This record gives sequence, structure tokens and C-alpha cells, in this order.
Amino acid sequence: MLTDVERFSSYRRLCRRMNVFFTRYLAVYCRHCQEVMARIPDELAGWRLAAGVYPGCCHRGAGDLFRLEGVSGPAVLPPGLVARIQAARRLRLAAAGQDGCSPVYRLVNPATGQSLEGEHCRYFGRFGCRLGDLKGPLCLDFICPPIRADLLAVTGGREELLGPEHDFLWLYRAMAVIGYGSAAAVAAEFAALERRLAALAAAGAAFLGGVEADSLFHHFRRVPVPVAR
Ligand code: SF4
Ligand code: SF4
Repeated sequence: MLTDVERFSSYRRLCRRMNVFFTRYLAVYCRHCQEVMARIPDELAGWRLAAGVYPGCCHRGAGDLFRLEGVSGPAVLPPGLVARIQAARRLRLAAAGQDGCSPVYRLVNPATGQSLEGEHCRYFGRFGCRLGDLKGPLCLDFICPPIRADLLAVTGGREELLGPEHDFLWLYRAMAVIGYGSAAAVAAEFAALERRLAALAAAGAAFLGGVEADSLFHHFRRVPVPVAR
């Protein structure tokens, strides 16, 4: 049986692996989040930021959700693992000090005169997430519909590679195994994830070579594929 320390270590390893993947392939989308979200019918088209920092999908509370969707067994990380994650976050943020990023942002729609306010996740700072390898399950698992549509286009619709809509790359399943499974099962999940990431990277590289674009974001902003709401 794995100890809490070993499960915590595996969870952080998964975070670090996904941070590398997101930074390399998807962060460019998130830097243009409003433009990306405007691809969803009726979502953000016509709205512009009037105050604060637009946090993308890092809304209030998102970093503190420890649910695991669609898994068999307990649908939440084990309490011992959650306690370690939260304790390590407190230490990290205390060491980093205040960030000073106002939590509130405001969007306006000049065409309609509408205005709306939102608040970002408490771990969101002026340079993005402050947690590094201590992010929550939803942070690792979520990709928005435009990114999913682009990845499906790149991979020729390979859902078995991307995972279902509610579980990108089956990361919730991997987290459930990290939280409750054996050492052998955890090792098998990491190996399977590496195979999926390698296949995804190969599909992306082949696609980009054919369209001569710097990134998937830059290609699909020119040639958008339909996105369901
Ligand atoms: S995943 Fe999508 S919604 Fe979230 S920040 Fe990135 S572009 Fe925005
Ligand atoms: S923990 Fe980090 S990645 Fe997750 S919602 Fe908060 S700021 Fe975003």
C-alpha cells in the first residue's frame, strides 16, 4: 500500500508533467483567452475587459475543487492527500508573499451596454497560477471547447486519445489511481499518460508541419473549426 507521502509525490509529479504539456502546447490559447472563448456561439463575442485581469477559466473556487468526475470508486481525492496539498499550498504562498492582484474583474459589452463582474481563483496572481505543482484536479483536467475542437481536428477525431469531454486525457482517472491505487497501478497510469502525450505531440507536430503555423492557436485563429456551445 502506498503511503500518503508517496501519493502526494505522485500527484505533484502529475502536476509537473501536465504543466510542461500545457506550457508547451496550450498556454498560447490561454494568453488569448477572450479571443478563444469568442469562438463559442454567444459566449464572449462583443465583450471587452474594462477592469482587472481576465483570469480565463481560473474563476473563484476552481482551485479548491477536489472532485474527480466519472471515475469508479470515491469521486474525490482522499482527505489525507487533500490535506497535504492544502498544507503545502499555505507554505508556498506564505513564502511567496502577497501578489497584489485584485481579485475582481469587469467585462463590458459596448453594443448592449451590459456589464458584468467576476472574481478569480484565490491562487491566481498577476503572472498566472501561483501554485505550480500544487494545482487542483480541475485545473489539470479542464480544457475549453475550442481547444478540444482543435485537438480533435488535429488528431482526426481520436477521442480515445483525448479522453471524454469531462476528463481530458483521462486525468481524473489517473488522479483516482494516484489517490487510491497500488504502486503498480500508479506506474501503469503514468506510462499510459506518457503514451497519450507522445501521440498527441506527434499528431500536433505533423499537423503544424503541414499548415506551416507556429502553433495550433495561430493556425485555428485563421482557419477556425466549429465549436459547439
Ligand atoms: S483553457 Fe480555454 S477558457 Fe481556460 S484559460 Fe485557456 S483558453 Fe481560456
Ligand atoms: S489553482 Fe491555479 S490553475 Fe487552478 S484555478 Fe486557481 S489559478 Fe487557475
